Amino acid sequence: MPRNPRYDILFEPVRIGPVTAPNRFYQTPHATGMGLARPKAGAALRGLKAEGGWGVVCTEYCSIHPSSDDSPYAYLSLWDEEDVKALAPTVEAIQAHGALAGIELWHGGSHSPNRLTREPMLSPSEHSAVFWQPGQARAMDKADIAAFRDWHRAAALRARRAGFDIVYVYAGHDYLPFQFLSPLTNQRSDEYGGPLENRARLLRELLEDTKEAIGDRCAVALRLAVDELKGPKGITSEGEGREVVAMLAELPDLWDVNLAGGNGNDSRSARFSAEGYEEDSIAFVKSLTSKPVVSVGRFTSPDTMVGQIKRGIQDFIGAARPSIADPFLPRKIDEGREDEIRECIGCNICRSANNEGTPLRCTQNPTMGEEWRRGWHPERIQPARSEARVLVVGAGPAGLEATLALARRGYRVTLAEAGRALGGRLLRDSTLPGLGTWIRVRDYRAQRLEPMANVEVYRESALGAEDVRELGAEHVVIASGSRWRRDGVGGHVETPPGLNGAGRVLTPDDIFAGQAPEGPLVVYDDDHYYMAGALAERFLLEGREVTLVTPGTMLSTWTQMTDEQAFIQARLMELGLETVLTHRLSAVGGQSITVDCIYTGRQKTLACGTLLLVTGRLPERALYDALMAEPEALKEAGIASVTRIGDCLVPSSVADAVHAGHRYARELEEPDSVKMPRRERTTVLDPEGVRP
Ligand code: ADP
Ligand code: SF4
Repeated sequence: MPRNPRYDILFEPVRIGPVTAPNRFYQTPHATGMGLARPKAGAALRGLKAEGGWGVVCTEYCSIHPSSDDSPYAYLSLWDEEDVKALAPTVEAIQAHGALAGIELWHGGSHSPNRLTREPMLSPSEHSAVFWQPGQARAMDKADIAAFRDWHRAAALRARRAGFDIVYVYAGHDYLPFQFLSPLTNQRSDEYGGPLENRARLLRELLEDTKEAIGDRCAVALRLAVDELKGPKGITSEGEGREVVAMLAELPDLWDVNLAGGNGNDSRSARFSAEGYEEDSIAFVKSLTSKPVVSVGRFTSPDTMVGQIKRGIQDFIGAARPSIADPFLPRKIDEGREDEIRECIGCNICRSANNEGTPLRCTQNPTMGEEWRRGWHPERIQPARSEARVLVVGAGPAGLEATLALARRGYRVTLAEAGRALGGRLLRDSTLPGLGTWIRVRDYRAQRLEPMANVEVYRESALGAEDVRELGAEHVVIASGSRWRRDGVGGHVETPPGLNGAGRVLTPDDIFAGQAPEGPLVVYDDDHYYMAGALAERFLLEGREVTLVTPGTMLSTWTQMTDEQAFIQARLMELGLETVLTHRLSAVGGQSITVDCIYTGRQKTLACGTLLLVTGRLPERALYDALMAEPEALKEAGIASVTRIGDCLVPSSVADAVHAGHRYARELEEPDSVKMPRRERTTVLDPEGVRP
């Protein structure tokens, strides 16, 4: 289909210093969990973004020197010529599709713990280490500053040798140049401290050095956090953030502006921000510079994107997460297929991958991170091996994705769902405060399935074993989901307290089915992801008093990985939640519960009219077990395989369910050889790695 002319503006080329971006789609630097340990996987991932139409594709943070080492997390490095060789394939993969390749040069200062290199941490002033580890960062003297400038210049030259088109000076996310800029971290009394002009001196020098070294051929971008969100004593977009932009306005070839990265502010989840949420803080930048400006805001709607350009907010559509959820977003708009965009849901599972030091994963896009490892492409899939028919039972995220991917391969698929609506757990979870976007996981798949001639969808069809056998498909996929446990067993309670004789005990399933708490409500969280906190929030918003008990040391502990924990804690505290941390459930009575401290065993008794258990889940495996109990009947029905996937196999995140559905479809009737993911290994006898 031809492109909608309304979106033509998004496809205009934009000049950035000595280079020209082919369009306005700009994949800003973002972590992938690949880093220097997985260069092939990193190159494949970035190349795919360029293939999908992003006019600029940047790498993640790239260390300029061993004194900036973020081990065990996955950063890149440009310390020597070996690193140049390792990064060249990424550049080639990006440029092969006509896109510009950008690299984000990085020095973490007191924000890089140097666990691998054991270099002393550096900082503008004597400073505590950021990671609550023993040891401090040492104040840089003039010789250190001169050395730092030399390292930065050398890394920029290496970046040019690797072939990059855009090279970043990186003054965001509390890293070293930003530490010099902020009055909160710079207490120097020399010409690099004191008034803003002095605190910005190093940044100015870095920009001048980089332009002088490589500016003839490479564009020099400045990434700046214009507001560190620490109040008027720090850098703010009304105060010194604005002044710095005015001061350096024409020096960089491009401004990449955002909010401070600490506590997840630069990539807030949908639960805590709307599309374009940074606009108020960054909108001033364009009025102070003639250079192109890029920012981010989880943009997935092409009309909003056009609005960003036409209203003069930015010159590009900056994106990290929307490009992860749909690497082909620009191509889809270009080809008039914008209704096929796989919209980011803002769940931040992608952030969790980096925070755990593992390769990127995405709830909406199961192929993300698998481009090289499993050879998966988001838009292409191998054809079916046979004419076999496949029955998928359950239309949650796992069943929907399995159905879609199987149908794309060309299999004839029947999808049976017990409920009237498709979506499984998404129908419930997306009703929780702030999680409305999660229904996009269902919507994207349901919309794609609708016109497919090789798919039949049966709603209100709760299948039993006999029904499955009668349908006579060769392959049966059971994606029947899971239910929340009623016995209190969770991460910290192996032997549950007896619940007989207890007052009202509910699970999230009961709440979603319409049951209401009575009396004092205690939410017990031994699940540690979003469910308990979100349910507590819902009841607090309804005006109830809620106590949340958890063995965790903080609320919704695992959401630290999705950069949401601090926001959740703040919101629930603001709403008046009573919390009892580090306690596990030990006894349940009629109108009270007893909880034990996980450290001392000391007990507390709490009033409790309703106990809402958010602990473990159990697979809904009755149908699977019934089918497997009669192997002869399966054979007679011509059923060659019965497979459990998603929560029905092992309850986990929506991201894992979608991945499981996709993986089933990719691997059906394929040889075992495709099922083993590839790994990147350094060769044992690598002569380059051996010191004489
Ligand atoms: P997952 O996250 O693994 O996709 P969900 O719990 O989200 O799991 O979805 C499971 C879906 O399976 C639900 O929509 C449920 O109604 C459906 N389901 C469960 N058992 C059956 C069955 N016997 N027949 C048809 N649908 C079923
Ligand atoms: Fe968006 Fe979630 Fe995918 Fe991240 S993991 S890109 S937030 S859908």
